[in-house]
Amino acid sequence: MGGDLDLDVLTVSSARAAVQERQTTAATLVENFYSKIEAKDRQAGQINAYLNLTRERAFEQAKQLDAIVDRGDPLPPLGGVPIAVKDVMVTRGIRTTAGSKILGNYVPAYDCTAIQRLEQAGAIILGKLNCDEFAMGSSNENSAWGPVRNPRDLSRVPGGSSGGSAASVAAGTAVAALGSDTGGSVRQPAAFCGVVGLMPTYGRVSRYGLIAFASSLDHIGPLTKSAKDAAIILRHLAGRDVMDTTSADVPVPDYEQEIGKPVRGLRIGVPKEYFPAEMDSEVRAAVESGLKLLAEAGCEIKTISLPHTRYAIPTYYVIATAEASSNLARYDGVRYGYRSPNARTLSEMYRRTRDEGFGAEVKRRIMLGTYALSAGYYDAYYLKAQKVRTLIAQDFLAAFKEVDSIVTPTTPTPAFKLGEKSDDPLAMYLADIFTVTASLAGIPGISIPCGNSKDGLPIGMQILGRHFEEATILRVAHAFEHARASAGR
Ligand code: GLN
Repeated sequence: MGGDLDLDVLTVSSARAAVQERQTTAATLVENFYSKIEAKDRQAGQINAYLNLTRERAFEQAKQLDAIVDRGDPLPPLGGVPIAVKDVMVTRGIRTTAGSKILGNYVPAYDCTAIQRLEQAGAIILGKLNCDEFAMGSSNENSAWGPVRNPRDLSRVPGGSSGGSAASVAAGTAVAALGSDTGGSVRQPAAFCGVVGLMPTYGRVSRYGLIAFASSLDHIGPLTKSAKDAAIILRHLAGRDVMDTTSADVPVPDYEQEIGKPVRGLRIGVPKEYFPAEMDSEVRAAVESGLKLLAEAGCEIKTISLPHTRYAIPTYYVIATAEASSNLARYDGVRYGYRSPNARTLSEMYRRTRDEGFGAEVKRRIMLGTYALSAGYYDAYYLKAQKVRTLIAQDFLAAFKEVDSIVTPTTPTPAFKLGEKSDDPLAMYLADIFTVTASLAGIPGISIPCGNSKDGLPIGMQILGRHFEEATILRVAHAFEHARASAGR
């Protein structure tokens, strides 16, 4: 039973329906996903999205769901939906590494709220997904457990830092995944792998149990095959959590219903700063043809300006590294995680633990951040960056008086080759140029596939919205998917 279900095309609603209508059982579905993961993900040279399979937990959940169906009761809203989560979200009793050697043996004592909420809604957690170490990176090459490969072309990166999340959805080894986005880490890998990636408004989704990178920028968000799936999952993720004081007490709409509303008359801004003369011609063409489809669907397209865009990368890399240097001070080998066996004194233990436990990129960021926060440099770098951050946010607030959403490319190029940028941190940082602005402003953004390069690599279009208006960007994304499908592109 269930052997004839095509796992590649399963969506959140079709997976639930298949279990509810007894086309398969939840347990069989889980088994089939594990076989597919074994076949496509785990061998050398394969995708390497999964770090750890949570079999026991998955089958226990499946058993409970199958019992509900056997009783003839309706499944919960995400009942039977197999998902996977980035390894920066803690899981009780299950190793959680954040892609770092320093947390190589860390077994958390509690569950991340986002995971707990999805499980309560019936989702089945298949496993923990590879990522850049502490979510620092744009290619997934900074993982202590080896890179993830792009399912669309195994010689290319899947993007980062949620590379495992995007790759698992693209490969059909999970129906949906959770990622985290600090400067683009959900949206950029979604674009590189040809899936949908949503960064909700800052505060929309609880971060309790998310291993911190930069606390004023960190978000949890879903990666899915469609805007509708993202809408369904967001509804269950979103909302106030008493365990996270930064989570917002703002009503959560029924996004699935909201996305069905027409887009005719919506005003869409196209910021000229995101289409520089020297940009990749295939990315430009794909996003421009996407805008044309939105215009045909009745949206009003307007050119706008976000004048402080060019300061976004330096601003982000000062603030994010400053916060990271402070957040990562806790990994000292004393309470949990890796401890160097090669030390004789306490200070040597700290030093060696951090030297042996952290990878090169994480060390670079700790040093940059510590410098930006140190006496004598704080005003020149950190304080200045905070002021520019406000200017960038104000650009968006002004633009959203004229338009309802903003469309840009998600990334400057399609997925690059493994190794292509790994020795050039600046080139790597520039991969985030279109995504860090929304992160700094705290507004929501979604990346959806809008075309392919001539090499068959996916290209992503980013849709940004006002604070807490995820419903609008999901609606535009959903309408766009329909327009693209009917245009046969
Ligand atoms: N690529 C960006 C960085 O390296 C963003 C990472 C993220 O969003 N977690 O910081």
